[in-house]
Amino acid sequence: MRFARILLCVFSILCADVGTRGIAQTPLSGKRIVIAASTVLDGKGHVLHGTHIVIEGSKIVAIDPKAGPVDYDLRGLTVLPGWIDAHVHITWSFGKDGKNASGGLTAEEAAYQTAANAWVTLMAGFTTVQSVGSPADVPLRDAIAKGLVPGPRILTAVEPLMGPGGQTGTPEEIRAFVRKQKETGADLIKIFAAGGPNRSEMTLSQEQLNAACDEAKKQGLRTLVHAYKDAVRAATMAGCTEIEHGVLASDDDLKVMAARGTYLDPQAGLVWENYLLNKEKFVGTPGYPTSLAGFAAMEKLIPMYHEFIQRALKIPGLKLVFGTDALAGSHGRNAEEFIDRVRDCGVDPMAAMVSANSLGAEAMGLSDQIGTITPGLQADIIALDGDPLKDITAVRRVVFVMKGGVVYKNVPRGAIPVYGGVNPLATANGSVSAVRSLPVAGTSS
Ligand SMILES: [Zn+2]
Repeated sequence: MRFARILLCVFSILCADVGTRGIAQTPLSGKRIVIAASTVLDGKGHVLHGTHIVIEGSKIVAIDPKAGPVDYDLRGLTVLPGWIDAHVHITWSFGKDGKNASGGLTAEEAAYQTAANAWVTLMAGFTTVQSVGSPADVPLRDAIAKGLVPGPRILTAVEPLMGPGGQTGTPEEIRAFVRKQKETGADLIKIFAAGGPNRSEMTLSQEQLNAACDEAKKQGLRTLVHAYKDAVRAATMAGCTEIEHGVLASDDDLKVMAARGTYLDPQAGLVWENYLLNKEKFVGTPGYPTSLAGFAAMEKLIPMYHEFIQRALKIPGLKLVFGTDALAGSHGRNAEEFIDRVRDCGVDPMAAMVSANSLGAEAMGLSDQIGTITPGLQADIIALDGDPLKDITAVRRVVFVMKGGVVYKNVPRGAIPVYGGVNPLATANGSVSAVRSLPVAGTSS
């Protein structure tokens, strides 16, 4: 017992040293684990049948149908790499009175709420998320990387570069801001280059964007740019890595993105569904409608986002990654975005899975560590009770979660109503009533 504790401490210290990018995990033991699977989606668009996955420590070491003895029999389920969400706000929670941005939480309460967000996200099958961003991400990222708190691997932007315009700073000041984020521990840089879908004008000039993305590149960091309309092309021309949202960009803008290899992270619905589901909590808070009637106008925006993704799918070579914009109320329901993409936007189910596996990893520059079921990579493995290629609502039925070789969830199949015994809405809202409005698995397609 005491020996085990000492061992854990040693591993924690080791990981504190090597976990600077939040990737290395604390292996609880070097034990060999064998998983039997009848159907494996490898994360790159291929399906493997009837094989065994061998794990040692935090990594996959072999795919070998003859390996044994079997520790976890996942036959009859769909096994795939843990999902990657490119865009979450892991520290964003409702306040003590249940309202958005009302604060009133002590530092301790906020920390526990954030830990709960991380827990429900992991339980929903997301083993890596990119948080964009808050300085409060940093201690959570590090605690998870050390194995002290359960949660997905976190990459953080720390403090985002916000407009408006000239007030944001000269190119030199912007470069200094980027370097400061790097010093504070940022894994990437988040940039706001436009308002929202209704006020889509650019909030940074081309010159400012050039400075931000060029300096980030010099510092070895990727750039995620919140952009609509003209800002999409401007950020692409500035050499930024990935466009968030992107709505109102023209087909020509999207073609330029494809030609330059700029990733697109559009949202198909969860973010809006969550605002509408929780409108009483968002109404009147900064940045949201001042009356409940104002949310009806928001509802009308949803088809515009669907149409945008449908259009983006037709651009040859454009790379669409998976990002939910999970925030207060939607943590742990990230997989709803898969359903929206497939059901409402015509995204091919396999492409939807790949967007949150190998493509998501590629966009983060982590293809050699996560995103596929391949020997040498982190053992991030989940299993769904159902086949998402035939019924996309299977993404709600995550019954097994392994991250970095550690099993965090392994529940009986068939016993899972929605989100595997964890009720993310209850966690986020402090109420269970809202869960009734969630369609039960299999009732919608
Ligand atoms: Zn966001």
